[in-house]
Amino acid sequence: MKILVLNSGSSSLKYKLFSEGEAVADGIVEHIGEEGGVKDHREALEIAEKALIRAGAVESFDRLDAVGHRVVHGGERFIEPVRIDSEVIGAIRDLIPLAPLHNPANLEGIEMMKKKVPHVPQVAVFDTAFHQTMPKRSYLYAIPLEFYENYGVRRYGFHGTSHMYIAKKAAERLGKPLKTVNLITLHLGNGASACAIEKGQSVDTSMGFTPLAGLVMGTRSGDIDPEIPVMMEKKGLDADTVLNKQSGLRGLCGENDMRRIQERAAAGDEKSRTALEVYVHRIRHYIGAYMAQLGRVDALVFTAGIGEHSPLVRQMVCRGLEPLGIVLDTKKNADGRRDISAPKSQIRIFVIPTDEELEIALQTEAVLKR
Ligand code: AMP
Repeated sequence: MKILVLNSGSSSLKYKLFSEGEAVADGIVEHIGEEGGVKDHREALEIAEKALIRAGAVESFDRLDAVGHRVVHGGERFIEPVRIDSEVIGAIRDLIPLAPLHNPANLEGIEMMKKKVPHVPQVAVFDTAFHQTMPKRSYLYAIPLEFYENYGVRRYGFHGTSHMYIAKKAAERLGKPLKTVNLITLHLGNGASACAIEKGQSVDTSMGFTPLAGLVMGTRSGDIDPEIPVMMEKKGLDADTVLNKQSGLRGLCGENDMRRIQERAAAGDEKSRTALEVYVHRIRHYIGAYMAQLGRVDALVFTAGIGEHSPLVRQMVCRGLEPLGIVLDTKKNADGRRDISAPKSQIRIFVIPTDEELEIALQTEAVLKR
């Protein structure tokens, strides 16, 4: 089966082609709609198709068996991936108020592909779907209930495809069925989120109504006192811009790339060291909270750019957690091993590379076989 996975953003189109579950080619078209760039998503798809043909990955998009689309927001309606038809397109459009930046761009990719190859089945895989199993006590905010009832204001959570993929992989490593394992998964990339997984299902996650909440990120603040944006607006600032683009690690030390922050901290830069400490402190805060919620935890899992590649962050996160049953093997951690727990660690500690595109391809195939 040849499955094309598309991640259609407002100014970029990421694509990856899978053949019989193996990635065979991928690429990215950037600067869509920007001056001097590609005109629109239709043109971006043409470029992607040509590149894949040149790579010998496919003869033309006509010959694809399916297309899997990453869709950021599925609201409360989509609790699993679905085959796309005009009704589903309408529902994704109705969710635009919840994801004004992302859903329109995702829809653009869907509509263009539908026009181009109307006979090829298309599937939407939602970033929010995995978290739809959260109980009310996790997803409701303590604000007037009308905001939830009338405007859908609640915790949705994101990165669901990634948390689900690494949960499955962690269960395999534990040698247990997914539906029996309790996990704390940490997706630490430019965007970052933590997830509490009970019996294979998401029961809480750190991102919220939007992907701004929770952990400290590259440029996003994560959790803050909700009065702070009110104060920013009073000062004439655009709180949305400050909190999404100028905060997080960048806000604290002027840099959002963890590699450089680590280098600067090692060279004695005080702001970088403090940024690292704030970053790690927040992660530990969530680990503690999720341990309290889950009771028994089988494994703590690190993934994404920082989670997979930063022994320093992993070590700082686990430091002092021995009384909670989390005992890191510092040598295995430094060596970049996949199981970095000490033999006496009650909770296993794993590093599992995430693969959202592969998970989208797998889910797309599963939907077609339903
Ligand atoms: P992602 O969004 O998953 O691509 O992750 C991006 C983040 O991972 C950036 O902050 C990078 O600096 C960080 N990263 C990638 N490689 C390393 C590394 N070897 N050590 C520390 N951070 C890394």
